[in-house]
Amino acid sequence: MFRKILIANRGEIACRVMRTAKRMGAATVAVYSEADANAMHVAMADEAVLIGPAPVQESYLLAAKIIAAAKRTGADAIHPGYGFLSENADFAETCAAEGIVFIGPPASAIRAMGEKAAAKALMVEANVPVVPGYHGDDQDDDVLSKAADEIGYPVLIKAVSGGGGKGMRQVNEPGKFATALKGARREGLSSFGDDKVLVEKYLERPRHIEIQIFADQFGNVVHLFERDCSIQRRHQKVLEEAPAPGMTPEMRRSMGEAAVAAAKAIGYVGAGTVEFIADVSHGLSEDGFFFMEMNTRLQVEHPVTEMITGQDLVEWQLRVAAAEGLPLAQDDLVINGHAIEARIYSENPQKKFLPATGTLHRLRPPAEGPHLRVDTGVREGDEVSMFYDPMIAKLIVWDRDRAS
Ligand code: ADP
Repeated sequence: MFRKILIANRGEIACRVMRTAKRMGAATVAVYSEADANAMHVAMADEAVLIGPAPVQESYLLAAKIIAAAKRTGADAIHPGYGFLSENADFAETCAAEGIVFIGPPASAIRAMGEKAAAKALMVEANVPVVPGYHGDDQDDDVLSKAADEIGYPVLIKAVSGGGGKGMRQVNEPGKFATALKGARREGLSSFGDDKVLVEKYLERPRHIEIQIFADQFGNVVHLFERDCSIQRRHQKVLEEAPAPGMTPEMRRSMGEAAVAAAKAIGYVGAGTVEFIADVSHGLSEDGFFFMEMNTRLQVEHPVTEMITGQDLVEWQLRVAAAEGLPLAQDDLVINGHAIEARIYSENPQKKFLPATGTLHRLRPPAEGPHLRVDTGVREGDEVSMFYDPMIAKLIVWDRDRAS
């Protein structure tokens, strides 16, 4: 196991990773920007290294600064959390070249899933069902609008490098295609530096159901069941739960198998999530789900999976990265009860829920226990700045069934 782990992140996820690292006997190193000198993740770590000014481009996204911090403190592994450098294949490669273990998948697997269109083409080859659509390289306006006609309206245009619901446009009729295409391209270019798009069938009664998978370095892959993330705002998750309401054992088995096949197709190692969209116009059905994308990292909503399986997914990540086998086999994993997570944002309801900044004058989280968990990265009196994600905590509840 690792002696010292650097956590290349901030906020609730940095704190959450440190908790497990400490429990497993590893020392922890925080990195922080000037805006975060008094942040909770810095206070929690055994050591902390200042890496630059507040803007993420000058601190949390600077791979070289983070690697230098790891070398200076003698960390033997880096946990990237989510966001920031977690899905940056070059960073994963640099860590390896510097003799530091990147606690995440191989660079090749990150690259394979990094672009929505290429990932979908790969999944078609691996016989994983995908939403009917056009994922080609030819980006000519006419080619794309003909593809939309063939798919049949309504369609969804997606920036292939998109994320967080950005670069997506729903189009209900051919006359609106050209304008929507321009919009998706513009957003793709400004947010992700890439104006390439794909076009797919827009499902009018969708549910977002994703499968947590885990793979070790010896070719073993298991899934830890599903999470339902259908409750969204602006195509972004706000409430997540596990298991998915109404899920049948048959559908769970086929989704689990598809997710494991997806992971095997790209030689995956570590924690990953295969996101599917289910067409529920006729209820949940075994043949009514399609691959959307794979996230090659630990996700924000992983605690609901931990609550229903009794497993610590960060512990699994550390063990797998340290070349141990998977802690449990598929048949040893069982679902116990039901869990729901709510993301807690610092935002202003009077201003259309725009991010809000300032001092957290009063913060009284409920007491934690077997039924309630709070993952937070802030304390009363802390400052919430404009530089980072406005999600400041997560409230996770568990009971024996969904109604409870
Ligand atoms: P991002 O990477 O930006 O989060 P996704 O491709 O994961 O984008 O899609 C985000 C959300 O948009 C999904 O969870 C789902 O609610 C909705 N969505 C995606 N594809 C479709 C589709 N083909 N039809 C209907 N809704 C969709």
